[in-house]
Amino acid sequence: MLAKETAINHASSSECAGKTVSHPTNLWVYASSSGAMTMAHAEPRELDGTRGWWMRDLHMFGTAGYGVVYVLDASPPVVVDTGMGRHTGLICDLLDRLEVDRAAPITILLTHVHLDHAGGVAQLCAAFPDAQVFVHGRGAPHLADPSRLIAGTKRAVGGMWRYYDPPAAVDPDRIRTVEDGELLEVGDRRFTAHAAPGHAPHQLIYHDHTADLLFCGDAMGIRLPDSNRVFASTPPPQFDLAQSRADVAMIADREPAGLCYAHHGYRRFDQGVATQYDRTLSQFVDETTQALQRHPLERVIDAVAAEYDAAAVWGEEKTRAEASLNVRGVAAMDG
Ligand SMILES: [Zn+2]
Repeated sequence: MLAKETAINHASSSECAGKTVSHPTNLWVYASSSGAMTMAHAEPRELDGTRGWWMRDLHMFGTAGYGVVYVLDASPPVVVDTGMGRHTGLICDLLDRLEVDRAAPITILLTHVHLDHAGGVAQLCAAFPDAQVFVHGRGAPHLADPSRLIAGTKRAVGGMWRYYDPPAAVDPDRIRTVEDGELLEVGDRRFTAHAAPGHAPHQLIYHDHTADLLFCGDAMGIRLPDSNRVFASTPPPQFDLAQSRADVAMIADREPAGLCYAHHGYRRFDQGVATQYDRTLSQFVDETTQALQRHPLERVIDAVAAEYDAAAVWGEEKTRAEASLNVRGVAAMDG
């Protein structure tokens, strides 16, 4: 069954691997660490037609197919989100393969400061001393002092906390806050940042005008890799349904050629993607709210996890954890 199984590169914790210049290849692997057969590109791959963007699965929460990092091979290089601290080695390895010098002034664009997106910022800055971090003004204080973020994440994720490394504080001199609608010029590339606060008030999405790609963080939901299945992302404590729907409409108005999901991967955009996600969000909140009126929380979580039918990709544990986050986010909406 696992004939093609290949060791995933567990370049571990915050250490950055030595410089390598081997050329990345597209390599499909079947990983079984979570007990399920999952499939992902363990090796980085260049995204066709995107003018230099690379994507790498970070094997987040012990499973392939959940979280990725995007890196733009340009001068200066751009990194969109950093995963958690333990993923820094994989990101450094990709930058090494692209022959990025450690003295390079890399640009880190954070979609938001939830720790599966921003938990590795301090480690990446330690590896690249000239890195500059772009983040929403409401997220910036949490980078400089992550104590509240750590406490909030522990509350939200429960037992999954064991997959996180407590983030270190980011030097405020590295942090540059970004306004809604701000144009960012990075080398010869131009990005517009747009606030998308429905998922979290510190969320931004970034539109790369050269590639016409939109890095949507969690604003367009959580997508099973290489599929049309997208789950509503409604985590506690700050999920806002009306604002999330407005964010989807805002993204639809941008009409990018492609979307880059933090979870998970690239897909071409068309208006149907936005319409479908808008409907998914409303239905999920509606049905979950009704179910919570009739059944205990844990039973609703079990039912949602079963409906996700994602265990073949994420494994049972992460599938239930995802359901738990989203159900509890809906439960917190009125409370
Ligand atoms: Zn998030």
